[in-house]
Amino acid sequence: MTTPSRFDYSVLEKAPKVPGKPRHKTREVKVGNRIFGGNNPIWVQSMTTTDTFDVEATVRQIHALEEAGCELVRVTVPKPEDANALSEIRKRIGIPLICDIHFDYKMALAALDHPIDKIRINPGNINKAGDTSHERFRAVVRKAKQKGIPMRIGVNAGSLETEVTLKYGFPCPPAMVESALRYIEIAESEGYHDIIVSLKSSDVLVAVEAYRLYAQLCDYPTHIGITEAGKPPYAVTKSAAGLAPILLDGIGDTIRVSLLGDPVPEIAAAFDILQATQRRVRRPELIACPTCGRLAIDLEKIIAELEARLSGKKLPVKISVLGCVVNGPGEAREADIGIAAGNGQGMIFRNGEMIRRVPESEIVDALMEELVRWEAENAHRLPKTTDVEGLGRRKLPVVAG
Ligand code: SF4
Repeated sequence: MTTPSRFDYSVLEKAPKVPGKPRHKTREVKVGNRIFGGNNPIWVQSMTTTDTFDVEATVRQIHALEEAGCELVRVTVPKPEDANALSEIRKRIGIPLICDIHFDYKMALAALDHPIDKIRINPGNINKAGDTSHERFRAVVRKAKQKGIPMRIGVNAGSLETEVTLKYGFPCPPAMVESALRYIEIAESEGYHDIIVSLKSSDVLVAVEAYRLYAQLCDYPTHIGITEAGKPPYAVTKSAAGLAPILLDGIGDTIRVSLLGDPVPEIAAAFDILQATQRRVRRPELIACPTCGRLAIDLEKIIAELEARLSGKKLPVKISVLGCVVNGPGEAREADIGIAAGNGQGMIFRNGEMIRRVPESEIVDALMEELVRWEAENAHRLPKTTDVEGLGRRKLPVVAG
């Protein structure tokens, strides 16, 4: 006879053992040489801070972003001279070029005369007051369709149109989603479907709920971000706090982390968020304990050496290095490769099995040897040219695109 309990353990028995929600099913939209949506990788993008008409400065900054791994770049186009610089900028960069338009639909029309890869429109600030037929937006959609250029309908809580704001009382998630859906319907009525949607807010709770609501209703790919996150390091933490729940819900096809100042650090931050949520794993995941008075090895030195030796390795492998036997064996068993330290020695685990002991001075070499074996064993399931979703031996990685 089992002991009566106040907890319903059947909930646990029915719960999935391998965590993780599937990606929000979105249709594919081509942006230059990248395909957004479907099972394609969640592309990392950023935005320049230069005057777009200053071609030299803009191209220099885009090259720095490319060097950091940026996969698409957006430039602002507020003036005719900015639009005039677009062809030259496009010629000199290697990643798709996106034009960002606010207020003036004529700037959108001018930008579309150049070989750009995508246009971003903020529908909330482009319409002529009182024009219920949305002629300005339609004019941009028609030209984008004629040129075969995709468009981001970029709804922003800070610039939502009056009509939906009044309907819902304030720029709340349903108001943002209604705004996006209404503009999607207008674009579709023009026979245009190359759409990407964003629902940004500087309020994490608003943004998360807006994306969740949208994903219940529509299947155009999403550009995700927490807008105006401010100054690092808080801005990185705030972006992660907002983007993680969105990504963990399976939502998001391209990501931008918005940091005050130099845009280059946005790229590493975006890839870190994708790595931590396992939506796009591009490097080994290194698990290390914070250390405490039980520490049995020089963990900081070992991790620093290991990080240097793993640099540039694009393997979705989980490596655990813990400083003593409290959690060491348990973590090591769950990782692909693990070390549990004790008495100046390291117990080495691979695929959950303890395979040997090595002295502290040989731990890093031993881990690297095991990594070579792990790579050979898993060669058949490792992607050749792209990143993977998922990490670790309990969840086999799936080729993401
Ligand atoms: S694994 Fe050991 S050394 Fe590391 S924090 Fe935990 S108890 Fe301390």
